[in-house]
Amino acid sequence: MQNILSSITIDSEIRDILNDVLEGKTLNFKDYKKLLCSDDIYAIGLVSNKLRQNLFDTTASFINNIILNYTNVCITYCKFCAFYRPPRHIESYTRSKEEILERISISKQMFGITQILFQGGHNPSLSIEYYEEIFKEIKKSFPLISIHGLSASEIDMISKVERSSTKEVLTRLKMAGLDSLPGAGAEILVDEVKSKISPLKIKSNDWIRIMNEAHDLGISSSATMMYGSVENDDDVIQHFMKISELQNKTNGFIAFIPWGFEPNNTQMQLEGLTRYSSGGLKLLKMIAISRIIFNGSIPHIQSSWLTNGVGMAQLALLFGADDFGGTLIGEEVVSATGARSTELTSTKIIESIKQIGFKAAERDNFYNIIRFF
Ligand code: SF4
Repeated sequence: MQNILSSITIDSEIRDILNDVLEGKTLNFKDYKKLLCSDDIYAIGLVSNKLRQNLFDTTASFINNIILNYTNVCITYCKFCAFYRPPRHIESYTRSKEEILERISISKQMFGITQILFQGGHNPSLSIEYYEEIFKEIKKSFPLISIHGLSASEIDMISKVERSSTKEVLTRLKMAGLDSLPGAGAEILVDEVKSKISPLKIKSNDWIRIMNEAHDLGISSSATMMYGSVENDDDVIQHFMKISELQNKTNGFIAFIPWGFEPNNTQMQLEGLTRYSSGGLKLLKMIAISRIIFNGSIPHIQSSWLTNGVGMAQLALLFGADDFGGTLIGEEVVSATGARSTELTSTKIIESIKQIGFKAAERDNFYNIIRFF
C-alpha cells in the first residue's frame, strides 16, 4: 500500500515500526529503543507530523503568559540548576504579594496575559499561607487569569514545611485558586539518574504520586522530561512509560514538554558530567517520539522554544509538536544559564507559526482556542 514512507529509503526495522504506528498498533519497549537509536529522523518526523496533522491540521497554538519565579531561595541544590541561591545568599530574593500583583497588573495591560506560570525554589521559610494569600488575591483581582503553578517537588516542600500531606496541600491550594500544575521536577523519572543530578529532590515515585493526587482532585497538569544530562536511552523510555501508565489511569496530563538540559553555569558542567547541550537534532527526535508514544493519550506536545530557540521550535511543529508554549515574559530560571532568547512576544510567535504556513491560535490554560490570527 502507498503511504508517506513509500518513497524514502530507511532501515527496514524502522520502516516496520513506523508502519505499525501509522496502522495504530501499540509499540513496545524494544520498538521505542530502536526509534531512539535510529538516525532516520526524517522518516520518524514524517510519521509524527502525520499524527499531529490528523489531530490539529495546520493549527499551532500558544499562550500569552508570564513566569513568576517568586523565589530563588532553594535548599535542594540540584546540580543541573543555575537559578537557585542558598538561604541568606546576597543574591537571594522572595517576591512579596504586592510585587507579584503589580507585575501581573502591568503584564495584563501590556501583553493581555491569560496565564501565570508560578514557579520557584524550595524555600523552607515560606508557609502555605504565603501561596494561599497570593493565589486568592490573584483570583480576586484578575479572575480571568489562570494560575499554572508549583511543581510536584514544590508541593512536597510545602508539605514538609507544614508537616501535612501533599494531598492536603493540593486541596488547600486548589481552594485558594490553583488551576493546574506544571510538569517540572520530573527531569528523568529514574532514581539512578536523579541520584546523580538532583540527589535531594523527590524521587520518581513521589513525583508520580503527587501528580496522581492532583489529577484525582481535578487539578490537571503538564508532564515534562529534561533530557541530555546523564541518562541513557533505557532511562528515557522508562520515563515515557511511567508517564503513559499514569495517564492511562488518570487522564490528567494535558501536555507533554520535552526539553534539553542547558549545562552552562551549572554544577554538572563544573564537575564535567555534561559539557554541552544536546542540540537541535535531538530535540526533533524527542518531539517526534513523544508524539508517537503519546498519540491518542496526551493530546498536546510543546515545541520547547525556551532552550532551543525559535527556529528549532518552528521545525518542532513539523516533527509532531502542536503547541508553541507561552510567551514566558519574565523567565529567570533558564536565563540563569545564559541562554539568549528567554522571552517572546505573541507577535513574534504568531509570525514564527505563520512563516511555516500554519494557522496561529491563542489558547487558554486548558488549551481551548481563544482566537485565530
Ligand atoms: S531546579 Fe528547582 S529544586 Fe532544583 S535547585 Fe533549582 S530551584 Fe531548587
